[in-house]
Amino acid sequence: MANVFERLGVRTAINAVGPSTRLSGGIMPAEVADAMREASQYCVDMAELQARASQIISELTGAEAGYVTSGAAAGLLLGTAACVTGLDPVKMNRLPDTRGLRRRVIIPRSHRNFYDHAIRTVGVELVEVGIADRYSGAGVRDTEAWEIAAAIDADTAAVVYVASATSLPPLAAVVAAAHAADVPVLVDAAAQLPPAANLRRFIELGADLVAFSGGKAIRGPQASGFLCGRRDLIAAVALQHLDLDIYWELWDPPASLIDRRQLPGAPHHGVGRPCKVGKEEVVGLLTALQRFAHEDPDARRARWVALMEALVAASHGVAHAQLELIADPKRAEVPLVRLQLDEQGAGFDALELVRRLRDGTPAIHANPAQAAAGVVLFGPISLQPGEPEQVGARLRQLLGAVSPS
Ligand SMILES: *Cc1c(COP(=O)(O)O)cnc(C)c1O
Repeated sequence: MANVFERLGVRTAINAVGPSTRLSGGIMPAEVADAMREASQYCVDMAELQARASQIISELTGAEAGYVTSGAAAGLLLGTAACVTGLDPVKMNRLPDTRGLRRRVIIPRSHRNFYDHAIRTVGVELVEVGIADRYSGAGVRDTEAWEIAAAIDADTAAVVYVASATSLPPLAAVVAAAHAADVPVLVDAAAQLPPAANLRRFIELGADLVAFSGGKAIRGPQASGFLCGRRDLIAAVALQHLDLDIYWELWDPPASLIDRRQLPGAPHHGVGRPCKVGKEEVVGLLTALQRFAHEDPDARRARWVALMEALVAASHGVAHAQLELIADPKRAEVPLVRLQLDEQGAGFDALELVRRLRDGTPAIHANPAQAAAGVVLFGPISLQPGEPEQVGARLRQLLGAVSPS
């Protein structure tokens, strides 16, 4: 029987890139999809559900509190809003008009990326600090923590830190500089899982709020993510995200999420209200997060390595290309296959190989990030068993084979 996409007349694809939003993320484990379907058959109070989510996220991250968002980018928007307003509903109602509010958000220059549009949506000014000499080829240095300290003033709402294996300055030094001035640090850790230890790491290093994606390696719903961090900031997040179409007299949110006694009244629908999450996403994210946190990391890695080994095996004898499995955890947190194309021999370049893979049936999406060096990358996270064999067969078809399969 035709699947739902066939019934809609939409092609499905083999996703050998990984959990990219553009390619619809990945494949949810059946347990997660089942939990979402089950959730869809009941109604709950969303504040109560988020309060329980906060507890679960808190247990898994070591943070005081947590909140399910519609993605890491939504987490950045909500987290920024919380840092600007605190628990003041007057300020919440004013956003994104930040006149007269603390409206500067400091970011190391080398951390700027397309997702910081989510931060600017709140109405703040992003202040880039330092010079990333190590990326220009001109030198070895990057932004230093003292430069962040020097940039903080009375109008500074937050320091944003985008975590990666190569991020500088070290997070602990940034936290020390920010906390010395009583300014919170918001960490974008969207794609920093695995390793699962990172669920706790940024909080342990002193981050006030950390945003993770739910639709990447966690394998939750594509439109999900979560924040973890300080209880007061998570309360400010909730106040600017939850639907507040209710009389104050009737409004009774769990005190562990929002302590009503701290408020003069409830704010209007907040700047985060368009980042709505449904009960299905909350339940799906929690199910996937618990599964991710408890899965044996070696078993997870073995599953990914097996998919990548199958891709290499199925490409055996392919002409004009060298395939290398990179499975050493020191080289790659997630195992991958690196295809070095002999562009002269093949008669076309790596970008064209990516295009031809994509334009076949079924479409195969590969990672072109290193195409300038003649390299095409393949990742395991969004692949299904059986698909690596199809990728290998297509490569042999497109490039020719020097030995029979
Ligand atoms: C993927 C990513 C995001 C966005 O995450 P979503 O969950 O898709 O909103 C933000 N920042 C970084 C660094 C990312 O890699």
